[in-house]
Amino acid sequence: MTEQQVINCPKCGSNKVKENLIIKKVLIAAALIFFFIPVIGWIAGPIMALTAWSGNRAAKKKGIKPMKCDDCKNVFQVDEDKFVEFKKQIG
Ligand SMILES: [Zn+2]
Repeated sequence: MTEQQVINCPKCGSNKVKENLIIKKVLIAAALIFFFIPVIGWIAGPIMALTAWSGNRAAKKKGIKPMKCDDCKNVFQVDEDKFVEFKKQIG
């Protein structure tokens, strides 16, 4: 990964941060549950998907991005503007 100095972890100061993709993972998990577990999946799958989706929408509205530190596994949020700059630096 290219060294970037735009976003540092607020906990340990490391610059080894990346976009937190937990919401996308939850959506994929929900889809799998939905398809492969009858009854429970048909109930839990859409609820999980909806929760993740609305969380994602709320984050987008506020213009914030969830980030995760690779060093201390701290999860934090940054402004959308900062995230765009971050993306530019890591290519
Ligand atoms: Zn950290």
